[in-house]
Amino acid sequence: MLNEKMSRRGFLSSALAGISFLALTFLGCGKKKEEPAVQPETPEMTEEQKKEYVFSNCICKKCPSYVECNEKAGYCLVGKSECIKEKKGCICPDCPVTKKMNLKWGYYCIDGSAMDMMKAEQM
Ligand code: SF4
Ligand code: SF4
Repeated sequence: MLNEKMSRRGFLSSALAGISFLALTFLGCGKKKEEPAVQPETPEMTEEQKKEYVFSNCICKKCPSYVECNEKAGYCLVGKSECIKEKKGCICPDCPVTKKMNLKWGYYCIDGSAMDMMKAEQM
């Protein structure tokens, strides 16, 4: 969850770093390669490993809004779901990805990726 005591400048810097991570990771999403789950403390991760980190740590499947439809979650990275259309609660604030990436939004499955959220705020 967003630390409300964080200074705006510090937060934006952290958020930008997180979003850059997601953007760079997203660019590598077309590649299919099986790799083991990566621990957050791993000092240097490849883009493929970062993508795996998001997918491995995503908790969307425990969310009341989640709809099983044979798609990969990690909506903060991949953007809107083809299946989830109804907001019944969002547990993104409890997800380790939110903390690691300093994300501040939610409902990525319906509203779009973290990158989309950031772009919308800048308009
Ligand atoms: S922040 Fe939300 S969408 Fe992103 S990995 Fe975590 S639970 Fe999934
Ligand atoms: S993005 Fe948020 S609302 Fe959507 S399934 Fe994941 S936790 Fe639930």
